[in-house]
Amino acid sequence: MHTHVYVPSRRFEDYEYCRICGTYHSTALMDKRELYEDGYWSAETGHSSFPEQIDNITKFPNEVGVSKIDYAINSMQLGGKVLEIGCAPGVLLNRARRKGMTVIGIEPDVTLIPYIARVAGLCEDSILHGYFPDVKTDTDFDYAVAMDVVEHVERPEEFILGAKDRLKIGGHFFMMSPIIDKGFYRARDFWAKEHAYIFSRTYIESFLQDHFTEVHFGRWMTGHECFLCKK
Ligand SMILES: [Zn+2]
Repeated sequence: MHTHVYVPSRRFEDYEYCRICGTYHSTALMDKRELYEDGYWSAETGHSSFPEQIDNITKFPNEVGVSKIDYAINSMQLGGKVLEIGCAPGVLLNRARRKGMTVIGIEPDVTLIPYIARVAGLCEDSILHGYFPDVKTDTDFDYAVAMDVVEHVERPEEFILGAKDRLKIGGHFFMMSPIIDKGFYRARDFWAKEHAYIFSRTYIESFLQDHFTEVHFGRWMTGHECFLCKK
């Protein structure tokens, strides 16, 4: 763990990078309300529509033919109580619910909650409105899941420690995120104006190892990785 020492990036406009660990940080991040509550996240602004988001995680495979949702579900031995932070479009909640788990989601865009609840097969009360870690929840979850969320957050360390706080001892935090590992990355992750950070594996893995008893790395796709961490 260290304090990042940023220098401007010549490769990626609107980013600086840490010359110690290679983590990239956006210098032009949009306001979170604009991003997540004012309709920015819609087909009209060139983003995936809600049905496209469902296709993105269920239909499109990685290099070895596994969809994002199947990779995530297979990486965890989901059981008990599951909290999904940033839960649109609701597919993971649906899979977990059908396996008999108690599931709670968190979503910042209140207008999406009815759609997420329908996809998840839940009542709307199971989807909490707000930003994590501000949203209050129980603290006895078996799993906290954040798929493609941590890179959007301005204070990712606080977010990850907040997720750990909601877990029982022995519970697991699962995160998926764009990661730079040994110089490999996906350039498209730097075009997205909503990404606050593109982490180096060195940095994020050592942070997780400092705060969890076990950390397992998993590769969904080169440049897009997962960590399963045990409290
Ligand atoms: Zn750094």
